[in-house]
Amino acid sequence: MPTHRYPDSNVFYRRLARDYPRVVRASGCWLEDADGRRYLDACGGAFVANVGHGVSEIGDAMAEQARRVAYVNGTAFTHDAVESLAVELAALCPGDLDKVYPLSSGSEAVEAALKLARQYWVEVGRPGKHRVIALAPAYHGNTLLALSASARAHYTACYGEWLVDVERIPAPYAYRCACGGVPPLCPACSGAALEQAILRLGPETVAAFIAEPVGGSSTGASVPPAGYFARVRELCDRYEVLFVADEVLTGAGRTGTWSALEPAGVVPDVMTLGKGISGGYAPLSALVAPARIVDALVPRGGLLHAQTFSHHPVACAAGVATLRHLRAHRLVERCATMGAVLHERLQALRALPHVGDVRGCGLLAGVEFVDDQETRAPFPRAVGFAEAFTAAALDAGLVVWPNVGHADGTNGDLVMLAPPFVISDAEVDEIVGRFTDALYKVRLSALGARLSATAAPTPGSRLPAPGSPHVDAGAAGL
Ligand code: PMP
Repeated sequence: MPTHRYPDSNVFYRRLARDYPRVVRASGCWLEDADGRRYLDACGGAFVANVGHGVSEIGDAMAEQARRVAYVNGTAFTHDAVESLAVELAALCPGDLDKVYPLSSGSEAVEAALKLARQYWVEVGRPGKHRVIALAPAYHGNTLLALSASARAHYTACYGEWLVDVERIPAPYAYRCACGGVPPLCPACSGAALEQAILRLGPETVAAFIAEPVGGSSTGASVPPAGYFARVRELCDRYEVLFVADEVLTGAGRTGTWSALEPAGVVPDVMTLGKGISGGYAPLSALVAPARIVDALVPRGGLLHAQTFSHHPVACAAGVATLRHLRAHRLVERCATMGAVLHERLQALRALPHVGDVRGCGLLAGVEFVDDQETRAPFPRAVGFAEAFTAAALDAGLVVWPNVGHADGTNGDLVMLAPPFVISDAEVDEIVGRFTDALYKVRLSALGARLSATAAPTPGSRLPAPGSPHVDAGAAGL
């Protein structure tokens, strides 16, 4: 068996300092590697495998599309797959959001959505409106405009000079904000911070406010207080700012409703989707906007953004088949039901050492680890707790999604759970059991490592040496 590790393979891996198991098959919530080891995919890859792995009808739809028309360019032609995808998504999106621009990744959708917001103001004769306001912590992608909108110190360290200036306001992040998410609400949770930022910058300069309706990995599935997005909507209307809802992670049912904004009854001006809309069967994302905004682009001919693989037939066919599968099997409803089961069972984790908080909604959960449960003090970053936990979980056959830095920009460790919507009761128990085992294992090794800050990892242990580059690069937190 060849080693799947840099530089022994020709692959330029995402992580250059670890061995990769080679996955050879996947079904439902499970992955299997070439050695026959099975992994419970408790985060759907990267919040992607909503319908579960191995749905052959989606593969069949893609193959059929590839046989018929694999590619035409979106500037010259349209095709059945994109027309159907647009109809499906328009029916699912709220209010007047019914014009669908498909792309490949979430970053591209965010990039295009912010460009749309900016171009809109130029086209309607308000070129002074160019500023973007975003939350911190937040994540919107890794291309340079999307990264500019993301508050991610470990990604931006190298590229700071290339990023555009995005105004940041504190995210409604109950576990770490001043009010704890309960009235009287602090400015972050009430929306007052947004109004202050708009007034500080001058409404005549602000093009858009972008936010995740429920926090993704950046705030570990923090759910803003009721009323937050109604206030956002009201402020955006009052000051003529476009509200971009980034539902790349939360959309397609992940939080138990088609979009995470749905329960708030708020319609954004632009919505971005990705990940779950094609369930991982093809790279597919989309921005969805109303005609009242898109109409403004008509005189110039369209959105000033172009990508070879936008409106891609095979990707769109994957999206159509995925959305139909979600509907036919009532999987969004199942996500709500199984989400309640997941959150009820996850409460047991609160009794474990270093579990500071467990939160989320639907089949999206964040477990935040702390050094001290009383004070909520995070581990020093050099301990690499989230990375060590993730490695221990993988050893226990459980795939989770780590994230770091949310406590203060540098420190903070959490992991996310986002299993496929087909998860069973027994598999939920399996998640909790494997999670608990991994936590006890990592607790011993992480604390041991902290005591000997210069020690190399012990043979067989995957805990990175404290302070090693692996610690900082380990938890990507997409
Ligand atoms: N927006 C949000 C809310 C995300 O969670 C992500 C990825 N996790 C992105 C944008 C970027 O998506 P992608 O990685 O597909 O570019």
